Amino acid sequence: MTDAAANPLLSPSPLPFSLPDYPSIRPAHYLPAFEHAFAVHRAEIDAIATSADRPSFENTLVALERSGELLGQIARTFYTVSSADATSEIQEIDEHLAPLMSAHQDAVTLDSRLYARVAEVYAERERLGLTGEDLHLVERTYREMTNAGAGLDDADKTVLTELNQQLSVLTTTFEKNLLADTNDLAVVFDDAADLDGLTEGELSAAARNAADRGLDGKFVITLTLFTGHPYLSSLTSRDSRKRLMDASRSRGRRGNDNDNRDVLTEIVRLRSERARVLGYESHSAYVTADETAGSPEAVHELLRRLAVPAAENASHEQAALQAIIDGDGDGFALEAHDWAFYTERVRAARYDLDRTALRPWFEAERVLTDGVFRAATELYGITFVERPDLPAYHSGARVFEVRNEDGSHLGLYILDLYTRDSKRGGAWMNSIVSQSALRGTAPIVVNNLNVPQPAPGSPTLLTLDEVTTLFHEFGHALHGLFATVTYPHFAGTAVFRDFVEFPSQVNEMWIFWPEILTAYARHVDTDEPLPADVVDRLRASESFNQGFATSEYLAASWIDQAWHSLDADEAASEMDVDGFEATALADIGLDNPAVPTRYSSTYFAHIFSGGYSAGYYSYIWSEVLDADTVEWFRENGGLTRANGDRFRQRLLGVGGSKDPLEAYRDFRGRDARIEPLLERRGLTG
Ligand SMILES: [Zn+2]
Repeated sequence: MTDAAANPLLSPSPLPFSLPDYPSIRPAHYLPAFEHAFAVHRAEIDAIATSADRPSFENTLVALERSGELLGQIARTFYTVSSADATSEIQEIDEHLAPLMSAHQDAVTLDSRLYARVAEVYAERERLGLTGEDLHLVERTYREMTNAGAGLDDADKTVLTELNQQLSVLTTTFEKNLLADTNDLAVVFDDAADLDGLTEGELSAAARNAADRGLDGKFVITLTLFTGHPYLSSLTSRDSRKRLMDASRSRGRRGNDNDNRDVLTEIVRLRSERARVLGYESHSAYVTADETAGSPEAVHELLRRLAVPAAENASHEQAALQAIIDGDGDGFALEAHDWAFYTERVRAARYDLDRTALRPWFEAERVLTDGVFRAATELYGITFVERPDLPAYHSGARVFEVRNEDGSHLGLYILDLYTRDSKRGGAWMNSIVSQSALRGTAPIVVNNLNVPQPAPGSPTLLTLDEVTTLFHEFGHALHGLFATVTYPHFAGTAVFRDFVEFPSQVNEMWIFWPEILTAYARHVDTDEPLPADVVDRLRASESFNQGFATSEYLAASWIDQAWHSLDADEAASEMDVDGFEATALADIGLDNPAVPTRYSSTYFAHIFSGGYSAGYYSYIWSEVLDADTVEWFRENGGLTRANGDRFRQRLLGVGGSKDPLEAYRDFRGRDARIEPLLERRGLTG
């Protein structure tokens, strides 16, 4: 038992800007702190729910927004670590915590007394003269509580709470299995010759991975979350490519302790059961009802509309790749693990371009400072000062202070670039503190990537995909940093899931913006800018692989929809995961074996342990807005302070505090058009 007074999670941080005092926090501090914070929050909720005063906006909605601050703070402090540095001790806490957290949240959200008070203010909202963010707060809180089941009778609520608890345990298990299988399946190569095509830096990183695992003299390639590993584009050995892809695709389906097949079918079953209790036909119907999409039908219509031309484009690309194989006289049929490699051959032949040779132009520090940060300075006037004196949760996570143009403090930005075994796969942004005028808080946001650590003393040279990921995640970070809302409910990325990818995607547009590119894409040894003709060919070549890229993404989105569109009876029947996936992909015409889904179910963390269940479609849904916005920036002179300010004030800053499509109209002057997206992805037919 830890004494509250001695628990750093329970006293204000001594560090500036409310940065959690990670160096003083021990894993043993978390559970006692959570227990204390649950009790504090319950007492706050009880006080609101049992108030003798008539429900008012102030004593109900505002009081709710003030409540739970300690719990939220501890939770964000913990989940930052459990995703980026989940040691076995932290994983154990996470597993223990999951059902407690779920039970606590349900106790608050499903509290009938609280719901009755919120409903009363909601019914009176016009008479009370509520407007703007206040009105939106009442509407959203009422809607969210209703969606969560606050209006159900007690018997149904008991069922619901039970389902939520089981789900929280299963999704944590899914994540844990995936992390374990990803580490176990790292591919061991005996001979450097098997890894021909990798750069010297990549090879020495693989040698170091092996040494770390006690396999001196060998080479270990660790897996990424994607089906297709980035090294597939450069490995010349077919056999090595196949080993890497087979390892990636076998995660979670090997019949061992880490098998995720039963875990995920059980998740699907419980989610569909929960949807039924809540009055929806399927989990997808339940989820999309409260997104900008509105219904599964709207989502399915978009996915089907895009799948047909995307699959057709992919088959044209496939023919071009096969032609190269045939031209080599090798006489084999292209398989999935060959795709990326021969795509580079086409790029070399058609566009005279070797993407792997570009990496010396993408030195990580330069990309960050003269690319990502610089674009933000030009657009929004903000500046960045590294604060090595401020410690984060891991020595690899760097803290930057972000200042407004007038020098005032805006927030903290933490960048955790490198991969490690304790970090989950992929890349993401999360908040440690969210902005709120009510609470007087300034944001602290984190970006995580999984870039391989370079050999000691060598610079980190990024791939173009990693550059893109950094700009993308930083777009989420800006969304968090620029929040200017009253209520924490609405800060930054607290928007609809099928809207949240839009600002991050827009931020990718600056990667190739001439004055930004010239500033950051400089050769690590010679400082030469990336030659203009290379840039032109790079851009032209990007369109070559769009059929594949769109297809593999749509396939994953469709698998997500297929699982989550099952009704409770369908989901309760015996389910063969591989067969189910195959049938779903055939149904939408994305069953080309050379173009596998970006994630297969057993390692599809977004939908079985992350927050994207029935929502993986969000990326392309948001991209409609993204492509339309990129067009707006181009029409209006691009990288200017005026454009940045408009985007910041009308869109990024408002977060979830108003209807997102209304915010979009306010920024754009009209609704989004789909044509820019179709053109960008070559889907105009
Ligand atoms: Zn994103």
